Amino acid sequence: MMIMHDTQCLQQASTLLKQAQSHAAMADLVRAAVSRNEQWRGQQCINLVAAESPTSPSVRALLSSEVGTRASGGHIGRDNRFFSGMKNIDELESLCVELLKIAFRAEHADHRLMGGMAAVLAAYTALARPEDSVMTVPVIRGGDTSNRTNGPPGVRGLKVWDIPYIHKTADIDLTRFSEIARVMKPKVIGLGMTLTLFPLPVADIKGIVSPWDGKVYFDAAHQLGLISAGLFQDPLAEGADLMTGSSGKTFSGPQGGVIVWNDARLTSPLHEAIFPTLTGSHQINRVAALAVAATEMLEYGQAYMKQVVSNAQALALHLEHWGVNAFYREQGYTRTHQIVIDSKPFACGREAVRRLEAANIIANEMPLPWDTDPYNETGIRLGTVEVTRLGMKEREMAWIAEQIAKVLLHQEDPMAVANGVIDFMKNHRTVYYCHEQGLPR
Ligand SMILES: *Cc1c(COP(=O)(O)O)cnc(C)c1O
Repeated sequence: MMIMHDTQCLQQASTLLKQAQSHAAMADLVRAAVSRNEQWRGQQCINLVAAESPTSPSVRALLSSEVGTRASGGHIGRDNRFFSGMKNIDELESLCVELLKIAFRAEHADHRLMGGMAAVLAAYTALARPEDSVMTVPVIRGGDTSNRTNGPPGVRGLKVWDIPYIHKTADIDLTRFSEIARVMKPKVIGLGMTLTLFPLPVADIKGIVSPWDGKVYFDAAHQLGLISAGLFQDPLAEGADLMTGSSGKTFSGPQGGVIVWNDARLTSPLHEAIFPTLTGSHQINRVAALAVAATEMLEYGQAYMKQVVSNAQALALHLEHWGVNAFYREQGYTRTHQIVIDSKPFACGREAVRRLEAANIIANEMPLPWDTDPYNETGIRLGTVEVTRLGMKEREMAWIAEQIAKVLLHQEDPMAVANGVIDFMKNHRTVYYCHEQGLPR
């Protein structure tokens, strides 16, 4: 199979550009696509994609600020820069670093990686050398390509081995892990999950790999906001050497990457991996937006993330009430923003997600631990970050669960459900848990 963009989509765009009367008209085409998305995804859909969050008005405004036009290569400080005129930018970046340190109770932080994925590559670059062995969770068990051979560890030339996993409880099989790890002596244990429902045994893993100075690296792409709010496990406090994350998932800031660590010996290898290896100009507009997002999480994160988790649990409970099976009931469904439901009785995951999309309910298919073919998923992952930031609570989760059941279980006309969703969303346009709006009422 060729891995490439859909040629039909590109062809359509090419045709539109050929039909445009001028270059200004071409710009109009771009703006029109943006505004159609803003209207549909931004105002008329229930977005349950676990990897997204809406940003506050000030975060959005900063993303188009003047600092975003400045080249920023290098580390903070006059002698570390490649351009003059950086005094205000040094101050702004320092504020961001110090805010991240407070937000994650960490000794060191970095703000320059332009995505969670780039942060993962920086982590493996700093922690391991080509040919070293690392252990990570396979994709089919809820792991993520970002920590596998076809992601950053592969690019770094690392050998990737599987962390044994118990699917029934969504947990690492510590007994088998310890047997394998003691033989392999991996340099790094990479704990990176895209399906993340429960805490991982960081302290136990650190204890197992300590005899050969193995490093524990926690990729908290999804859980970053929950961790900052103190509502999930605290990987650094539990013994992880390094944590990275995406700033645009539960952390609810601009899209980008964050790295935090406590061990001063990691500072130099990490800084070198970040610059000059993996970044040049690191988008100071994004850095400013990230710093403000950190202040929002410091002020509102606890209330916000608590409601995110309550909403996820409520959504699972209500879905079960309407006849849609949510997994991990015995464990309370989830301790994060995610839940995972069974699409098997209705359709394969992809087909079920398409039907929901036709009803303006946006989610993603997810391979489950017991699936044999990763491209024929039988799960759907739902996330509650966006609906929570738009002020929704348990009552609204009940309504959303009913709409999902109507589409999946009762085969109701998706257009009819979509009309209901559009009406419902008219009352949910305000972004809360930010300095402008405070808490929802
Ligand atoms: C989303 C994700 C990433 C990539 O983060 P981006 O910010 O999208 O680049 C890395 N690791 C895991 C486990 C993820 O879920």
